[in-house]
Amino acid sequence: MIGTSRNMATCSDSRTAPHTGGPSGGPVGPPPRASGDREPYLLCMTTVDVLAVAAHRDDVELTCGGTMAKLARQGHTTGILDLTQGEMGSRGSAQTRAHEASVAATVLGVTLRENLALPDAGIVNTPETRLALAKVIRRTRPRIVIAPAPRGRHPDHRVASQLVRDACFLAGLTKLDRDHPPHRPLKVLHSVTFREDQVKPTFVVDITDEFETKLKAIRCYASQFDGTTQAGEVYPNGEPLYDIIRHQSAHYGTLIRCKYGEPFFTYETMRVDDLTALDVSTF
Ligand SMILES: [Zn+2]
Repeated sequence: MIGTSRNMATCSDSRTAPHTGGPSGGPVGPPPRASGDREPYLLCMTTVDVLAVAAHRDDVELTCGGTMAKLARQGHTTGILDLTQGEMGSRGSAQTRAHEASVAATVLGVTLRENLALPDAGIVNTPETRLALAKVIRRTRPRIVIAPAPRGRHPDHRVASQLVRDACFLAGLTKLDRDHPPHRPLKVLHSVTFREDQVKPTFVVDITDEFETKLKAIRCYASQFDGTTQAGEVYPNGEPLYDIIRHQSAHYGTLIRCKYGEPFFTYETMRVDDLTALDVSTF
């Protein structure tokens, strides 16, 4: 029986225990179940409002870390699911990156951080990987999922983008698995920081107040980034990596007339109810 079961063993379908050190509040309760529902679901108690899914540890910090910190500050519960452990990284080790990711999670205030342990530099979109990711989505029940950009330098980023979309859809299928009730996120947002493939971001999040927190989280990956001029989707221009990130964030900020921003793309058209409430000046 379930309903209010706190059987945390159901969290073991991903490989890392939930991170609980963030300041954004504890886990929230399970969703109500319809009376007469006889499926033997076992519910983990850690659900989140927003789940960011990325191919590699440090991807979330680089692309949407400011937004995650802002969500936590606003009182939303947030989580990060890294798909791989970084064993193919040129610098450092998977163990080092695990520690760095844990510290960065605390900086960003996320409620949980887990790892699906898919092969680094070998992510594929298969029924098995879709199911593994869909199970995490059913268990954590995010309203919003943040996915990588549809295109990327690294094949893992491109594959993960579609994998996340597919898994979000499958997570809503009742008969997918018996461990957790179906859940389909309302929206999938693509974090398009450092990518120029889209003509324009659909929207930009103002991270002016969170930029230094974002940079602090990125600096947690010292084994990867200290002394480098390139990372992830960041094309090098000779500047130190941390300076490029600041300048790129300032560029996205100018798109909405603020100091620092992070861009997102959605395939859906955004809705407006009151034209007079629109901001971002034309001139
Ligand atoms: Zn990456």
